[in-house]
Amino acid sequence: MPINPHSNFLRGRPHLVLAPDPVATKPRQQCGRLLTSNPPPPTDSSRFAFDLRYKSLPDLSSAAKPSISALSMAASISLSLSPASTPRSGPAAARLGAAFGSNSLSFCGLRREVLSLRSVGSAESRRMIADLARHRAAKIVAAAENNGKPAKFDYDLIIIGAGVGGHGAALHAVEKGLKTAIIEGDIVGGTCVNRGCVPSKALLAVSGRMREFQDEHHLKALGLQVASPGYDRQSVADHANNLASKIRSNLTNSLKSLGVDILTGFGTIVGTQKVKYGKVGFPDTEVTAENIIIATGSVPFVPKGIEIDGKTVFTSDHALKLEWVPDWIAIVGSGYIGLEFSDVYTALGSEVTFVEALDQLMPGFDPEISKMAQRVLINPRKIDYHTGVFATKITPAKDGKPVLIELIDAKTKEPKDTLEVDAAMIATGRAPFTKGLGLENINVATVRGFVPVDEHMQVTDADGNLVPHLFCIGDANGKLMLAHAASAQGISVVEQICGNDNVLNHLSIPAACFTHPEISMVGLTEPQAREKAENGGFPISVAKTSFKANTKALAENEGEGIAKLIYRPDTGEILGVHIIGLHAADLIHEASNAIALGTRLQDIKFAVHAHPTLSEVLDELFKSAKVCSSMK
Ligand SMILES: Cc1cc2nc3c(=O)[nH]c(=O)nc-3n(C[C@H](O)[C@H](O)[C@H](O)COP(=O)(O)OP(=O)(O)OC[C@H]3O[C@@H](n4cnc5c(N)ncnc54)[C@H](O)[C@@H]3O)c2cc1C
Repeated sequence: MPINPHSNFLRGRPHLVLAPDPVATKPRQQCGRLLTSNPPPPTDSSRFAFDLRYKSLPDLSSAAKPSISALSMAASISLSLSPASTPRSGPAAARLGAAFGSNSLSFCGLRREVLSLRSVGSAESRRMIADLARHRAAKIVAAAENNGKPAKFDYDLIIIGAGVGGHGAALHAVEKGLKTAIIEGDIVGGTCVNRGCVPSKALLAVSGRMREFQDEHHLKALGLQVASPGYDRQSVADHANNLASKIRSNLTNSLKSLGVDILTGFGTIVGTQKVKYGKVGFPDTEVTAENIIIATGSVPFVPKGIEIDGKTVFTSDHALKLEWVPDWIAIVGSGYIGLEFSDVYTALGSEVTFVEALDQLMPGFDPEISKMAQRVLINPRKIDYHTGVFATKITPAKDGKPVLIELIDAKTKEPKDTLEVDAAMIATGRAPFTKGLGLENINVATVRGFVPVDEHMQVTDADGNLVPHLFCIGDANGKLMLAHAASAQGISVVEQICGNDNVLNHLSIPAACFTHPEISMVGLTEPQAREKAENGGFPISVAKTSFKANTKALAENEGEGIAKLIYRPDTGEILGVHIIGLHAADLIHEASNAIALGTRLQDIKFAVHAHPTLSEVLDELFKSAKVCSSMK
């Protein structure tokens, strides 16, 4: 079976097949169509509040639909519910508690509504929920009468891959009433939870604090004294590992509690609307679904000539375990993963050498942000670099000899240098993982390994035709290899299969690099925007603000940073926002939401921001934009 050689694919993993839980099982409707007859909604109020969020509202027939204000009230009910009044006994309550009691459920694209599931507050709230229950029960009975025939498929939706993309899609599918299964060949959570965002951010949390404790100048300015900061490597590694386990179990619980069937095994598409899955040495099981989503993610890309031993030459998969902290480590690739690890390693005492094929470090960022990042994140640290070179051969350390890295000029291909280091981390990008998926069974050919999709994430076949009922989301389609993008694509697909035209605006999806300070961005870089403007024949302008003018940043003694806005002065449209500075990853969302919602600068500049907060950096930025007077 083709597997990711670095994963624990099916090696002695606990069997995760879950029998549908009779209590958790809820009436299943596919966007209003009843698939199986089920008991009426429970009367238990906490359970019903749960159903309200996940099932009832989308199922209401238009005749029975409450007014918008009633719906928004329903939404606010679950926010104002008192935990004290939640019935705490019985299996449903126990399950809800297990799944939702933890406040750490929100990560990546994981749905946050689960946190607001509490019992019902006021009498009016209860009355409204009872009304909604009646509408819902009536609809279910009507649907049962019309659709008494057996379901044509085992599931409405099968998702192959339980990473964040698959998880986001599954949760939204349940909310829409789809009978959903998710097939996972390794461990739930995929890259983000087990080998990506989650453990890396745990390490970065440590590096941020170490950096602060080691910065005498910074501490002195705040009047603080810290004596000889240090760290225990194993405890740092445990922090990352424990966080991944915790989030993984939250994720698994949320799937189980919502009634998603987790089918353990490697999934292969065997034909239209048909998948088989199974574990090595066991017979395969075949299941059918009206729609299938491929969410099989990616694995580290390792260029030819590089020998990975997992100890001295390794990828992020190994680095996240933090089995040792090398004195001198070469990081091949200066994208966001390489940059984040340089932050971790230098804070823990390593010296870093970047090897970058392009002519400048951090080539993916807006050039002005890269320049500042170079000044703040590279130059003052124990980091040197070789740009415009390829590492053609890397040999792991052996018999007392160091790791050898042979470099050639990226343009002339002439040998350039040989580096001798203690370790090399390969951060040259990610490769889609689609091996063994059975794409050939449905005439689909990958493009540079990625599954080709249209703007709705629907798969196209080798002849360029759309494959009915088949979608691909997340890293496997390569549109935007980020956790929240995968999840957002999954939600978009579910909307699509429920008949709601939904096209995700990828230019509104933010990205962040969690260095100290952080970098974040949304939309176009300045060169991209200039090219688009030239082709489209419209003007663009650029506005900038500095963290140095922000009271909160100065109070933290963290005034280093800028925010940059690229926009159309003729319309007030935001084309891109780039930030480097304290909490840049949190700040970007005001801009990304504005792009997603089409909010123009002439409107957003009147939004009020609390003082003193870092958000005023963006307030200043929006206010400083000069939009054509006729648009004001
Ligand atoms: C070090 C690192 C740090 C990162 N940090 C961030 C970050 O801070 N923010 C961010 O947004 N993104 C980050 N990412 C990227 C993010 O992890 C990915 O974009 C995201 O995990 C993609 O999600 P996915 O659901 O597409 O795939 P994955 O998370 O890769 O999940 C795919 C799942 O499918 C399973 N699978 C594959 N094939 C089969 C099959 N045939 N049958 C059954 N199961 C199968 C796999 O076992 C896996 O569980 C980081 C990545 C790395 C490596």
